[in-house]
Amino acid sequence: MSSNNFIDDKRLKKLDKKFQTLIDVIGEDRKTEGEVFDKYTLLALEKLFSSRLIDIFDFPISTGKEGNVFRAITPDKKFLAVKIYRISTSTFKHISKYIVGDPRFKSIRKTRKDIIYAWTKKEFKNLTRLKKINVLAPKPILSTKNILVMEYIGYKNKPAPLLKDVRIKNPKKIFEKIIGYIKSMYKEAKLVHGDLSAFNIIMFKDNPYLIDLGQAVLKEHPNSNEFLRRDIKNMVSYFNKYNIKADEIEIYKEIIK
Ligand code: ADP
Ligand code: MN
Repeated sequence: MSSNNFIDDKRLKKLDKKFQTLIDVIGEDRKTEGEVFDKYTLLALEKLFSSRLIDIFDFPISTGKEGNVFRAITPDKKFLAVKIYRISTSTFKHISKYIVGDPRFKSIRKTRKDIIYAWTKKEFKNLTRLKKINVLAPKPILSTKNILVMEYIGYKNKPAPLLKDVRIKNPKKIFEKIIGYIKSMYKEAKLVHGDLSAFNIIMFKDNPYLIDLGQAVLKEHPNSNEFLRRDIKNMVSYFNKYNIKADEIEIYKEIIK
């Protein structure tokens, strides 16, 4: 560890004050499990402030098992979404199985922290791939350590809702759009989402946006076809409630051919 990375309790306390919204949410974790929101995360956050990318964290959007997402405001009053992965054993366990087998992550050192950092970078890279094709997803802005900064999808006062929480008016169109996304991702970006469900699709201005791309794998990944089949199945069964009838096997065959 370089001396640069070392911060004493006094500095940590001072940092904590600047991130009160964050600390309110994650503070409890820190007390119980020192490493969840560690001093490296605080240091990385401090850099986001000092580099003037972020001015304030105004509210938590979501607190999950593996990470927290916050709404942030830039110095020129634009909104951002900031996802902070937990440095915890459960995050590590969940993500290892996806990282192993991904040719892009062959050379990383394999400590828990390194893997979580690599995971964050992987989500950033996956989002970058989507930028080049016709699939709506938050635009990636920066990834550093366990922090991913991206475009905020939503309104002034609240984030856009998840697909699972809205009653859509044009289900056939939305279903076809999502299947089209799966196909473009596979054919053009050579990616499979791997955790596609109504929990990982945001509805904004009548358009679906894919989120949570951390586990997305390249086509070459040994399990990519299994993930692809599962993603399609999830969507077909979800849209079944809207009376959309589609054959998941047909869709799968059509995509991989
Ligand atoms: P996880 O499921 O691992 O906790 P997600 O990436 O799915 O992480 O994000 C958690 C929640 O945060 C989502 O369900 C969504 O409500 C919200 N969210 C994530 N990214 C954005 C974004 N770019 N803009 C607005 N809300 C977001
Ligand atoms: Mn999610």
